[in-house]
Amino acid sequence: MELPSLPPAFLQLLDAVVPASDRAAVDHSYTTLHWTSFRLNPLKGHPEDTLAELTAHPALTPQAVEGVDGVFTVPPEQREQLTHHPAAGDGRLYIQGLSSMAAVWALDPQPGEEILDLAAAPGGKTSYIAARMQGQGRLAAVEPVKARFHRLKANLQRLGAGHVHTYLKDGVIVGRLTPQRFDRVLLDAPCSSEAQFTRLDPESWAHWSPKKVKDSARLQSKLIRSAYQALKPGGVLLYSTCSLSPEENELVVDGLLREQADVTVEPVALPQPLPQRAGLLHWQGQALAPALAHAVRILPSAHTDAFFLCRLRKAA
Ligand code: SAM
Repeated sequence: MELPSLPPAFLQLLDAVVPASDRAAVDHSYTTLHWTSFRLNPLKGHPEDTLAELTAHPALTPQAVEGVDGVFTVPPEQREQLTHHPAAGDGRLYIQGLSSMAAVWALDPQPGEEILDLAAAPGGKTSYIAARMQGQGRLAAVEPVKARFHRLKANLQRLGAGHVHTYLKDGVIVGRLTPQRFDRVLLDAPCSSEAQFTRLDPESWAHWSPKKVKDSARLQSKLIRSAYQALKPGGVLLYSTCSLSPEENELVVDGLLREQADVTVEPVALPQPLPQRAGLLHWQGQALAPALAHAVRILPSAHTDAFFLCRLRKAA
């Protein structure tokens, strides 16, 4: 049976942003179930005991992801068993896409630092940052949508990260409230969620439209300025989205670069080689900042969702 086609406007976007040599693999990724990745959570139980329990399960064959401690994948047909495993229920492991984890790898949080997650719910990245901080330092997480805020708090409790300071606030005003305060800021911005599209489920794009992309871009531009204002001199800002649209990615960063003389774009060195391409330097006839070549576009594949990452540093 023929699968439903992706929306025409989205296909045009793929034509424009995916290199021709990657296009067949990208198209194929929309037609198949993907591998499921997860990380062992050192804030809950002992990772080696959790892994022993998983490998003893007759239906699970976790494969270690090279270069990153405590991260594993299972093939698509094992997703159900993994999701229902007691360790997933009680927070000893957390199911999270490799692209999503890559935002935390690129942020590179350190124990003892003061860190802000400016768009935090449901808390997948917040809890990973907390794990990497090993209980040392201070982590603040912001989320303005009430139901999502409560879900964030519940998830952090379940994942052994109840010590994270949570704030029910609009991220746009946080920079003004806490200027130059944080060593690192993660802005995993609200976006048009293009990464969730799959031809196996037309509902996956039911809420998407070019207008949603424009509206998201407007909010992202405000949030990135707030995130930048909250950053200490010398601090690192990691901007990410699960969108493929340049309006939500390179153009948002380009806007900040045009305004702020004291910001640089740093290369993102991911510990695990993911299918990735450099940020775009042109869009619809407009030249963008050459430094955007350091931004990373993770391509959708059997192991990854589409993702955009850009690591910025404020001059010391
Ligand atoms: N980082 C999260 C994770 O890994 O679990 C996912 C974040 S999701 C992509 C973006 C979040 O931003 C959503 O929870 C959304 O409700 C929130 N958001 C929407 N508007 C916002 C605003 N004005 N300020 C801060 N966050 C906002």
